[in-house]
Amino acid sequence: MFSHKKAQKAQKMNLTRAAEYIYDAVLTLAYPQICVICGQSVEQRRFGVVCETCWKGTRIFTDEEGICLKCGAPDQERCGRCEELAFTAARAAGSYEGALRESVLLLKRQPYVPRHIETLLTEVARRELLSRSTRVIPVPLHPKRLRTRGFNQASIIGHTVSKALALPLDEVSLVRVSITEKYRAGMDTKGRRDTVAGAFRVACPRLIAGEDILLVDDVFTTGATVSACAEALINSGAGNVFVLTVARAR
Ligand SMILES: [Zn+2]
Ligand SMILES: [Zn+2]
Repeated sequence: MFSHKKAQKAQKMNLTRAAEYIYDAVLTLAYPQICVICGQSVEQRRFGVVCETCWKGTRIFTDEEGICLKCGAPDQERCGRCEELAFTAARAAGSYEGALRESVLLLKRQPYVPRHIETLLTEVARRELLSRSTRVIPVPLHPKRLRTRGFNQASIIGHTVSKALALPLDEVSLVRVSITEKYRAGMDTKGRRDTVAGAFRVACPRLIAGEDILLVDDVFTTGATVSACAEALINSGAGNVFVLTVARAR
């Protein structure tokens, strides 16, 4: 009985996948998507605005080997720059370059996460330690900025991740109380940390007490923003704060 159900489920999955391919093919014919990097046609919608070849040229972090265990910096087991950051661990799908960079830039203009990014993010979130998360919280925007921008890209990522991992999405507990200046080029880690320090506040401590938070954002640069969020969350009773981003800028 059980295996019969399993077989039915597998068949259903295959049908869904087949339907996706057909959908891809039809969409590609009707609205050809041109790769924003190389100009070739993007043959599968799940790749978003970048073709498969350009995706292959983008660095994806496939395992935990040789990365900083805390902040996820590649090629350095202990980066020596993340001791003061307040989160437990941070991981990204890959480097802020090529396909990931283009996808992040697009996400600032369109509230849509391509299937391939969803798959990459889910894979990262299912690895230790992030797999211990019990609740998804996107890095919030200040309400004023939300009004001018229309949507919060971290929230779009949060919706996707929460659905894929079947974890509750929490957009009420953490709020942004000050509008921080856009990062100025050349601003160092300390400068960035000072700008966002105290920018976040926990509005519903009851909801996050003892929870292991999966904090999501688009890009990890110095870690100052997610660290300020983590500090507020931990000070209000959260257990661990794990950070998940689409890309890592350094
Ligand atoms: Zn391309
Ligand atoms: Zn580190």
